Order: sequence, then C-alpha cells, then structure tokens
Amino acid sequence: MEQPLSEIAANLAVVRQRIEAACRRAGRSAAEVELIAVSKLQSAALIRKCHGAGQRAFGENYAQELRDKANQLADLPDLHWHAIGPLQINKARYLAKHAHAFHALERADVAQELSRRRTGPALRCYVEVNLAAETSKRGVAPSAIAGLLDSVRNLPGIEVVGLMCLPPLAAQADASRRYFRQLRELGSAHRLRELSMGTTSDFEVAIEEGATAIRVGTAIFGERPA
Ligand SMILES: *Cc1c(COP(=O)(O)O)cnc(C)c1O
Repeated sequence: MEQPLSEIAANLAVVRQRIEAACRRAGRSAAEVELIAVSKLQSAALIRKCHGAGQRAFGENYAQELRDKANQLADLPDLHWHAIGPLQINKARYLAKHAHAFHALERADVAQELSRRRTGPALRCYVEVNLAAETSKRGVAPSAIAGLLDSVRNLPGIEVVGLMCLPPLAAQADASRRYFRQLRELGSAHRLRELSMGTTSDFEVAIEEGATAIRVGTAIFGERPA
C-alpha cells in the first residue's frame, strides 16, 4: 500500500523540524537550506501527495524517469525538478527541457550538450566532486574542478552555481563531516556559493557544515520500491 498523504505530510514535517534544529545549532537561517525530496523510483501519485503537503523541489536520478514524471505532473504549480544522478550525453535533452538544476556535472561535453539544448532560464549546475577517490563513485577529483569550470564558464544556458558530493557510506553520520567540510572549502576556493550535500543519513551534519541544498529521499517517502 502506498503511503497516504497524512503520512507523507508527517514525514515532511519531521524533516523540516530537524532542518530547523540543525540550522539553530549552526546559527543559520532555515531559509538558506533548500530541501530536495528525492523521489527516484517513487510513483508520480506519491510525488503529487508530497506536493500537496507543500513540497516543491524534487530530485530524480534517471533522466527518462524525470522526463516521464515531469510530463505526468505538468499540471502541478511551482514544481522544480533536480536531476541528481549521472547523465549520459544522449539523454541531456530531457534535462535541458525539464530540469531546474543538475547536481552531477562532471564532463565538459555533457555541459556543452546541455547548453546547446537549453532554452529558457539557465540550468543551475553543481559540479560533483569525488572527495574520497572512490572508484565506485562518480564525480571529478578536487584537482580537476578548476579545469572543468574553465571549460564551461562561457556556455550560455547553464550556470555553475556550486559543488555536490556523496560521501562514502558510513554507519555514523559524523563520519561524513570531514567530507562536507572539504566540499565547503573547495566551494569557497572556487568562489561557488552553493553546496549540495547531505542525505537521509547525514543531512543535519551537512547543514552544520554549510549545505545550501540537501537531498533527502527515505526520510520523506520511506524505503524505495525495489
Ligand atoms: C538516492 C539519492 C539520495 C537520497 O538518498 P536517501 O538516503 O534516500 O535520502 C541523495 N542523493 C543522491 C545522489 C541519491 O542518488
């Protein structure tokens, strides 16, 4: 059985309270932290309920799934799609058409394709950084950020606004702290204001370390369907 609206609304309220508490601890305003509800593999009907509970930003990993849901939910006002997964160049057109932001930029040729296909407001892009040099993870090495920024700086239709990371899975949320801190330092070194970091398991730590966008799925929607 799919969760009723009341359950989604209650989960959202708890997440928002946790965001506010983390902001208070960090001396930050909750208005500085955007909550992206990660809806990958969840149904369009469930996203509709979450929108009904006041949520406006949704995160999807797969370009075709994002496109399909954007079409199914085109009637919902002010809904923003955040593409948060790796993108194959031949699917760039789906994001160019439907996404508000792209959190996993790692290749100049993909940026060029997004730029070529984008009409309307600039696509807000985050460079994904692989901080722990994990072979299982995507993203550029810290030393490659500057080169990527140089090669995409003048492209129309896209704007690099920040950095994104997904730290190594750990049992303790606090294990992510040093990665979040490192991303913040890299952001300030490259004069990028936005930091997309923190998921269900560690978003409070991410907020304490300066996250401006957190990507939370399970805490809002429950476990993803297999
Ligand atoms: C799935 C996913 C999330 C959300 O993870 P939860 O643990 O469900 O909060 C966040 N970021 C990325 C890049 C993801 O792929």
